[in-house]
Amino acid sequence: MLRIITSILVFLIISCSEKNQEVPIKQPIAIVVHGGAGTILKKNMSDEKEKKYKSKLEEALRAGYQVLQNGGTSLDAVEQTIIILEDSPLFNAGKGAVFTHDERNELDASIMEGSNLKAGAVAGVTHIKNPIRAARAVMEKSEHVLLAREGAEQFALLQKLDTVSPTYFFTEKRAKSLKRAKKEEKFGTVGCVALDQNGNIAAGTSTGGMTNKKWGRIGDSPIIGAGTYANNSTCGISSTGSGEYFIRTVAAYQVSSLLENHNYDLKKAMYKVIHEKIGAIGGDGGMIGIDKNSNISMEFNTPGMYRAYVNKYGEKEILLYEE
Ligand code: ASP
Repeated sequence: MLRIITSILVFLIISCSEKNQEVPIKQPIAIVVHGGAGTILKKNMSDEKEKKYKSKLEEALRAGYQVLQNGGTSLDAVEQTIIILEDSPLFNAGKGAVFTHDERNELDASIMEGSNLKAGAVAGVTHIKNPIRAARAVMEKSEHVLLAREGAEQFALLQKLDTVSPTYFFTEKRAKSLKRAKKEEKFGTVGCVALDQNGNIAAGTSTGGMTNKKWGRIGDSPIIGAGTYANNSTCGISSTGSGEYFIRTVAAYQVSSLLENHNYDLKKAMYKVIHEKIGAIGGDGGMIGIDKNSNISMEFNTPGMYRAYVNKYGEKEILLYEE
């Protein structure tokens, strides 16, 4: 009798595990990207300019989505997407970085993996062509999370990343906006969050910071928990806006914490952080995110935010203004 029961049990265990192998459970993939929040108004935008922004956002989105479709990791998707935006002069990251008060370009970036809470970031770098690559190298090839200025540059050289002369980051547009910004401040970072078929979430952010920044100012973008956060058990977030406020409210982590500890959904949590926490103390900007169930959310309290996504149903949208 015991032998019969044991055989039945063994049969059941084997057939169950075979079934599991036959039908691997795949998480629906999703990706969302931003190109900064700010005074983005239809009335200030020519058709040609609008087309340029939309097509660059679409190109970046498509590159990341393809990585996910081919079974690649969310980390690769985030990095590929951000590199395209960093190489474009349109956005305040990489090539299009804004100027500091001293007419330099000092770049910040961070990246995080939701499966193991590993993260990497660089701050105040002036020669690294793609700071998001450097952030990933810090995560994967060093025992640290955040490297700054000359030390980060030395590390990038050791990692054989592309470096450029600081003049590479000069753009007429940003030089002019520095002149203007000595009165008025501007922002416009890039970021991406992706979820791959294995359920891994990654998030990354890259920026030139705030126009006219002084004294080695570092914003939220390279700060894990403020500008970037990813945790497979909650969500991934990338922020943009007046960084000091995102640091003070630990914005990206706060969204994750509302999901983990207070039963919020992503949309409600982002709404709370952007409008009730950041807005309430005078900050402005926005954030994008994906939760562990592949739901996308985008929230901002500025007139517009460059943003694009492909959701879990494969629906794509590219948006600039408040809709
Ligand atoms: N958050 C960035 C910073 O404060 C700027 C931006 O998002 O445009 O450096």
